[in-house]
Amino acid sequence: MERVPELLEEETLDPADWASLKELGHRMLDDMFDYYQSSRQRPAWKKPSKYALNSMEHPLPQFPQEATEVYEHFFTQILPYNTENGHPRFWSWVQGGGTPLGMLADMLAAGMNANVSIGDHMPMYVEKQVIEWSKEMMGFPKTASGLLVSGASLANITALVVARNHFNKSIRKKGLQAVPAQMIVYGSAETHNCVVKGVEVIGIGSDNFRKVPVDDQYRIRVDLLRQMIREDREAGHLPFCIVGNAGTVNTGAIDPLEELAAIAQQENLWFHIDGAFGAVPKILPEFDDRLKGLELADSLSFDFHKWLYVNYEVACVLIRDAAIHREAFATAVTYLVQHERGLSGGPDPFSNYGMELSRGFKALKVWMSLKEHGIRRYQYMIRKNLRQAQYLAGLVQEEHNLELLAEVPLNIVCFRFNPGGLDDSALNIINKEILMRLQEQGIAAPSYTLLNGKYAIRAAITNHRSRLEDFDILIAQTMRIGKELIA
Ligand SMILES: *Cc1c(COP(=O)(O)O)cnc(C)c1O
Repeated sequence: MERVPELLEEETLDPADWASLKELGHRMLDDMFDYYQSSRQRPAWKKPSKYALNSMEHPLPQFPQEATEVYEHFFTQILPYNTENGHPRFWSWVQGGGTPLGMLADMLAAGMNANVSIGDHMPMYVEKQVIEWSKEMMGFPKTASGLLVSGASLANITALVVARNHFNKSIRKKGLQAVPAQMIVYGSAETHNCVVKGVEVIGIGSDNFRKVPVDDQYRIRVDLLRQMIREDREAGHLPFCIVGNAGTVNTGAIDPLEELAAIAQQENLWFHIDGAFGAVPKILPEFDDRLKGLELADSLSFDFHKWLYVNYEVACVLIRDAAIHREAFATAVTYLVQHERGLSGGPDPFSNYGMELSRGFKALKVWMSLKEHGIRRYQYMIRKNLRQAQYLAGLVQEEHNLELLAEVPLNIVCFRFNPGGLDDSALNIINKEILMRLQEQGIAAPSYTLLNGKYAIRAAITNHRSRLEDFDILIAQTMRIGKELIA
């Protein structure tokens, strides 16, 4: 074969000059440690500058650029405009703030560049270890199975696929045509939207997700659930799954899980729990009562990146019956067959338990974090967040121009500024403006929701850096802006 003269065999994507890359790497580490250490000094949010935004509309790079220059771009135009969920007063949506060791673990994982799908290598065993620990934390039996995925959204879909394929063993081959009637999923009206999306993705259709009304504490009405199941059966439909909430996204409501488990058993339905963040207090003995029933689910989703503070992204799905889990996804193609020996030996491939074949080594940051802190320190941090939520709710109740809009069973506090004499639509406008100014002035970053048509400022406290004084600041500044607005 003719050699193309200008192609050098020695050329790789590794650096030509290792020394300068090492120097750059050390600078990156120092910069990121400084970034973590200075989180309290930064604004809670900063709008990306025009310059930074323009720098993301460049043409496709054609020629090599120095790594130091590329890093400079990151350091000056990307890092300063982060989402800032590591800030002590970030309480938007439900996001954890990550840790420095989590960051380092992700660096090590990226360095190993392991594809954790198949093979006899340690990253496979690390993920298995993390799943064993997850079962123990959540009270699942040792015989259960599990998988790490990107987030609770994917964990929920994975569980729904297992439930669906278990319901009718022909679905994998024939699709939903194998099912003679319409399959139905039940969950409260407060169920996270990703479950409804999951129901769409697995071919059931969102019309067939029954949004069961909630009580005044935003928990599923089990009497109405029973009634809906009965009506659906009478109409010839096929109920197959109940989704319970351990911590709803709006208010942190916990459905009566034990009752749901009993109904699922009586009705022969799959019982899944979305415990994205609210399953986490299962590690606190004082939550034994409130989370009773969690351990009875057929499947459970929870996030490590929310209330376990692990760096994005990583969540876990647990399935009580490992054989049913495997049956839902396992394939026997020749190029993925596990061998007795050699590189293709080792554990049952993870690709037999989920949709993804190529998978990163996200288990490492979980493994390192759980070892670094131990369950004892997680218990401490979660208790701290729970106490902070009660403290914030107390501040709201003491201030007669503020109104608490929902009970606070967990770590989510919904409130609004309400000086009296204004109707909901006026209050909605004012409270949205308060929220915008809290964020734009870099004071704090709570988020929002609508509760019975009322615009709520919503703080979801999954933040290990928050202190009580941060909630004093939130309330004082909310009052200041509120008074400015009505003046
Ligand atoms: C955040 C959340 C989800 C989605 O989880 P991701 O990790 O963002 O995919 C699902 N359910 C609840 C209750 C949540 O709070």
